[in-house]
Amino acid sequence: MVCPVRIVESTDEMIHFEVRSESRPDEIHDVYFDIDHGYYCSCENYHFRKVECKHMRAVKEYMNQLNQLMQMGKTFQEINNERKEAKI
Ligand SMILES: [Zn+2]
Repeated sequence: MVCPVRIVESTDEMIHFEVRSESRPDEIHDVYFDIDHGYYCSCENYHFRKVECKHMRAVKEYMNQLNQLMQMGKTFQEINNERKEAKI
């Protein structure tokens, strides 16, 4: 199972995601993607080990899905609305 991902904010230089923990649903981690530095996660796992954590993997998977949908000609707004309706 993949942790639920939500885009909080996106600018030309960076995207800020919120990833909810699967095991602890009240726990939310911030994942950032910026053009210069790539992915960054706020969780301890990443902070200490500097390896890709499951939150980053969830975000990457989310971005892949997003890319596929965009290639099908959907806009970012449409995708977001569909996700809301489907409660993904
Ligand atoms: Zn993490």
